[in-house]
Amino acid sequence: MDNKAWKEQVLCEPKNGYDRMPEGERAAMNAYCEGYKAFLDAGKTERECVTEGIRQAEAQGFKPYVRGMALKAGDKVYKNNRGKMLLLAVIGSEGLDKGVQITAAHIDSPRLDLKPTPLYEDSELAYLKTHYYGGIRKYQWVTIPLELHGVVALKDGSVVTVALGEGDEPKLVVNDLLPHLGGEQSKKPLSDGITGEQLNLLVGSEPLAGEEGDRVKLQVMKLLYEKYGFTEGDFISAELEAVPAVKATDIGLDRSLIGAYGHDDRVCGYAAMKAMFDLEGAPARTAVCILADKEEIGSVGVSGMQTAAFDTFIEDLCDSQGVPLRVCLENAFCLSADVTAAFDPNFADVYEKRNSARVNYGVGLCKYTGSRGKGGASDAAAELVAYARRIFDDNGAIWQMAELGKVDAGGGGTVAAYMANRNIDTLDAGVPVLAMHAPFEVVSKLDCYMTYKAMKAVYENGIVR
Ligand code: MN
Ligand code: MN
Repeated sequence: MDNKAWKEQVLCEPKNGYDRMPEGERAAMNAYCEGYKAFLDAGKTERECVTEGIRQAEAQGFKPYVRGMALKAGDKVYKNNRGKMLLLAVIGSEGLDKGVQITAAHIDSPRLDLKPTPLYEDSELAYLKTHYYGGIRKYQWVTIPLELHGVVALKDGSVVTVALGEGDEPKLVVNDLLPHLGGEQSKKPLSDGITGEQLNLLVGSEPLAGEEGDRVKLQVMKLLYEKYGFTEGDFISAELEAVPAVKATDIGLDRSLIGAYGHDDRVCGYAAMKAMFDLEGAPARTAVCILADKEEIGSVGVSGMQTAAFDTFIEDLCDSQGVPLRVCLENAFCLSADVTAAFDPNFADVYEKRNSARVNYGVGLCKYTGSRGKGGASDAAAELVAYARRIFDDNGAIWQMAELGKVDAGGGGTVAAYMANRNIDTLDAGVPVLAMHAPFEVVSKLDCYMTYKAMKAVYENGIVR
């Protein structure tokens, strides 16, 4: 061999995905991304993502799972867990004792939740107090238009759905200080410039005529009552989330990127779901897709990935074949499908370039996540990483290896640890994101599409033991 041949043989030199993707895939990539953008616009909360997910699943022939129902290869079922978590399955031709191929993503995103007693008036302006959800950089959430999405549960058992700010409806906003008076504020660290108790949504300024006292607040409450039929006391049993009032949009003159709210982690959730819809016939192993809630605050609660609702769903499927749950789980594989940080040359000093995910280099595989010495990571086995490399390469899913930033710079976690705790072989992989957790995040179309192809490869290629 000459030196060039040796170089190709023994060195690993990653190439930009655009130099690797067959030209013929461009149309499929763009079509996929249009579907993804529509999904984002339809799902700005976990509840809306579940509703839209079910709508799409039913259009693909998925049926609600009912305990005890007979299942055969190729059957498509879903379980709606309390409107906030969606579990889908396509029954495989092999028994559940051979395991299941799982993709687990999350559909909750950082945002500003309303407090239980949110509405107040100060200086003849009306506001809603918020309690932020997930790891936000507070200064990013001021001076941008926001919408209010969610539900108000009334005492009579009915539930009012709220999506205030859509289309040409009015928006809400959190104000910031003008620079002319911001001298002292500007000297504070970024983390303290805006405090949690300053994240108050401006919701009105016109007093209700002929009244005394909090006339602006009264006017706002009157409008809410007229539009939605709930009263101030009903905020107590509400889940209302202020989310950015922005539609998913192409970014860049070449339209190669997508800017939107909630890429983390709907970008993997949509990929996992769409890949399942696109399976032809019954896969060998049963395919399971999970769109979980509460990842951003620790995967806790009945709708988070630690919930027994997952085990219950899989056990119900196993019962239909007389297979013990533990046998199924110990043979299962889970791709913990969550976003990773894309290398940003504007902030190069927090990344370690050789081990960072890069935009347009494909789905980012993470052997481990965690922080301060892999703390909290599930750290997948080398054999699992080799399996993923093989099935991704064999199926044209362009991928790259990634860590989230420099060792001492910080870190993060995913649902991987909670799946691995269940005796499921689990590996992290997801789309690299620029400005993760910002109200407006950016991903590349190529990476989105390759993540979809990776999910499909997982469903169609059960791990061989
Ligand atoms: Mn995430
Ligand atoms: Mn996140």
